Amino acid sequence: MDLLARTKNILADLIAFPTISADSNLAMIHYMAGLLKDQGARVDVSTAACGTKANLFATLGPETDGGILLSGHSDVVPVMDQIWSRDPFTMHEVDGRLYGRGSCDMKGFIAATLAMAPDFVAQVRSRPLHFAFTYDEEVGCIGAQHLAQDLKERGLTPGIAIIGEPTEMRVIEGHKGCYEYTTRFHGLAGHGALPDQGVNAVEYAVRYVHHLLMLKERLRAMAPVNSRFNPPWSTVNVGRLTGGVAHNVIASTAQVDWEMRPVQASDADFVKTALRDFSEHNLLQQMRTVHPEASIELEIIGEVAGLMPTDTNEAKRIVSELTGASEADVVAFGTEAGVFQALGTEVVVCGPGSIEQAHKADEFLTVDQLSHCLTMLKRLGRRLND
Ligand SMILES: [Zn+2]
Repeated sequence: MDLLARTKNILADLIAFPTISADSNLAMIHYMAGLLKDQGARVDVSTAACGTKANLFATLGPETDGGILLSGHSDVVPVMDQIWSRDPFTMHEVDGRLYGRGSCDMKGFIAATLAMAPDFVAQVRSRPLHFAFTYDEEVGCIGAQHLAQDLKERGLTPGIAIIGEPTEMRVIEGHKGCYEYTTRFHGLAGHGALPDQGVNAVEYAVRYVHHLLMLKERLRAMAPVNSRFNPPWSTVNVGRLTGGVAHNVIASTAQVDWEMRPVQASDADFVKTALRDFSEHNLLQQMRTVHPEASIELEIIGEVAGLMPTDTNEAKRIVSELTGASEADVVAFGTEAGVFQALGTEVVVCGPGSIEQAHKADEFLTVDQLSHCLTMLKRLGRRLND
């Protein structure tokens, strides 16, 4: 069977595992572990605290730093509330397109790396090749953070990483971070006619949001020179503001759901520090003069690090050579890349398929894109001898 046919077969198997982030990915992880063990890879399956999800980390070649890491997430987004023409978990090929949930985001890339494993085994020498397949990417890169922690504990730092998210095989060297928060305000209820006898959580939430919006404006002026992001500065969005019960009741609770998309980690620190100072020294102090139990709590929903473009990036150099790309780009969506960059690994995002098809009904990956990916991996295999 030729490489493309083998890849399609593996992709069909992967799509048949309904690895929606809320559900277990263990069956898919064990399937992939089996394929890699059959090739003689050293395979580590690291189970999450919940017991129903796991990461897979596998190595061909020596146990040394500086290896090449191929990375993909095993989870997919839900299919609920989407109208699919056919079963989303049965791959079907029509007119050069491979349909199925996860086909482009990002089981196609994973299938290609697995199909290439026998070739890699024959080619690997002194530079290790790693496979990293994670859980819970779609809900905040939880698995990747767990994997990064495992690698730190092992003292293993891959030299470069290729994150195979769908970029139509373009080389991506940067994206913003995505930090999401919920801030909860607890005040004291009372009659609307006697505002001084309560602590109105909605009013404090509004003042908090006002301060956040002032910080949002300040971020504009903090954009790094030559920032290539759109917009070039770190952004803030207040997505949801709720609280209170009725016109004439002092609101005892309020909640703000907000996010920021930092172009540099220092911007996120700036916002968090400024907000904390304002909350503690200003809002909370006033709230507690009336009601000592009043509180403001910040819950971190997720802090997915950005991928910062750097002047020297071996991953960019190599993958550009492999794909023939003349330039590297930045994108608007987040990936696990920043988690690996924080380890000291040089990272690019490059994978088959289009982000346009990701997360939608009738998600597909073209056979053409899958072939381009296999070509890139074949060239990578030949470079393992270098
Ligand atoms: Zn993805």
